[in-house]
Amino acid sequence: QDQKARTADLDAETLWRQDRDHFIHPFTDFSQFHDKGCEMITDSDGIYVEDVHGNRFIDGIAGLWCVNVGHGRREIAQAMADQASRMAYFSTFNNLSNAPASQLAAKLAELAPAHLNHVFYTCGGSTANDATIRLVHYYFNRLGKPNKKRILSRRNAYHGTTYLAASLTGIESNNWSFDTLSELVTHLSEANLYRRPEGMSESEYCDHLVNELEAHIAKIGADNIAAFIAEPIMGAGGVLMAPRGYHKRIQAVCRANDILYIADEVVTGFGRLGHFFASEAVFETQPDIINIAKGLSSGYSPLGASLISDELYAVLGTPQCKGGVLSTGFTYSGHPVSCAAALKNIEIMEREDICANVREVGPYLEQSLKSLSHHTTVGDVRGSNFMMCLENVADKATGELLPVEARVGDRVAEEAQKRGLIIRPVGHLNVISPTLIWSRETVDTAVTILDEALSATTASLKRDGFI
Ligand code: PMP
Repeated sequence: QDQKARTADLDAETLWRQDRDHFIHPFTDFSQFHDKGCEMITDSDGIYVEDVHGNRFIDGIAGLWCVNVGHGRREIAQAMADQASRMAYFSTFNNLSNAPASQLAAKLAELAPAHLNHVFYTCGGSTANDATIRLVHYYFNRLGKPNKKRILSRRNAYHGTTYLAASLTGIESNNWSFDTLSELVTHLSEANLYRRPEGMSESEYCDHLVNELEAHIAKIGADNIAAFIAEPIMGAGGVLMAPRGYHKRIQAVCRANDILYIADEVVTGFGRLGHFFASEAVFETQPDIINIAKGLSSGYSPLGASLISDELYAVLGTPQCKGGVLSTGFTYSGHPVSCAAALKNIEIMEREDICANVREVGPYLEQSLKSLSHHTTVGDVRGSNFMMCLENVADKATGELLPVEARVGDRVAEEAQKRGLIIRPVGHLNVISPTLIWSRETVDTAVTILDEALSATTASLKRDGFI
């Protein structure tokens, strides 16, 4: 029976059909899915993944910006198996706890900026952002400021897809035909250096964005605003880079107006920019809350967390907080197997100094990708360290886009995949967000493949009359 089940499990044709007929894939275009079906990834090792047909690819997206320490780490699998055998699950509600959750909370407090010492566990990034907004509202309610409810987010932000996190998200196409809680959220302009208003210098652009925030606060009233939430570098919105000093200045305005500053470091955290946390080390901000997921467990098991400042904790959770239970949390808050995976993941990151690898190889990746700017369709190459993006355009001078039907992002990704590299198409963009263990040699291989893929794309766009 076992043998039969195993064989059936790896029967490519059966798997493909089972998947197509029963698995509702997230973020999938169903107008094409029923014909094309899925690509089944079955194996992984280090920088590689392999599909059910045995084709091997360099993983240029770290799964989904998450497999930071690389694939196939037996140590993590073993730590998870040991914990699952010993005690796979028990509640953390009320006063109950488990060893990995406690150890990990202490470890995160040690790694995080000095004032962030308290951990609220979630199941991933969306639930971290969602829970955070509830905690922020609860905090202001308890302080006797019940009108402080509105959250400032930004257009093109990505904060997840639970109802509240999706409402924070500012990518219009993501919420197409969905509803959002618009009465709770105001979306300000995104910070997008590449597409800033014409004729504005970087510092003028920064002034412009800070002025916009101040104008919104004046209009809505600081008494009605609870928090500002931002990714240090916008990820899914297109790896959008803010002008220098932007986050620091935005935080200062928030602080002056009693508005909490929440950094969504679901992508930028855990090494992608060369540090466990980018907020302080790279952007010189001291957020009241930092949300993490993805690289926290390198995707080996689902896990997210909100790191809460001492100041907030004084209202949420100290002995002085009389009169109520903090009635929020998940069955899987502090899941022992996920926390065991995260602890081992962090141990590996520290032992191999993976952040140092990113700081060493990251600038080389940036520089090597920039060498692709000569391609006809490459309008911008941007990002930082292991968080990079190519913006494909019709006209480099004006930044005009190709028509959607040209599917340029898909074309580049398909051409790269044919040559053994998986990158992510996001509309007309291509995101490159590798596992953090790439060496300079891996960068060279990947960039050679991309070079060929971009040439092939130009040729096919010409053939089809798009350029
Ligand atoms: N925030 C950011 C910045 C993200 O990139 C993501 C996921 N890509 C999320 C939140 C949502 O995380 P999850 O999918 O784990 O819910």
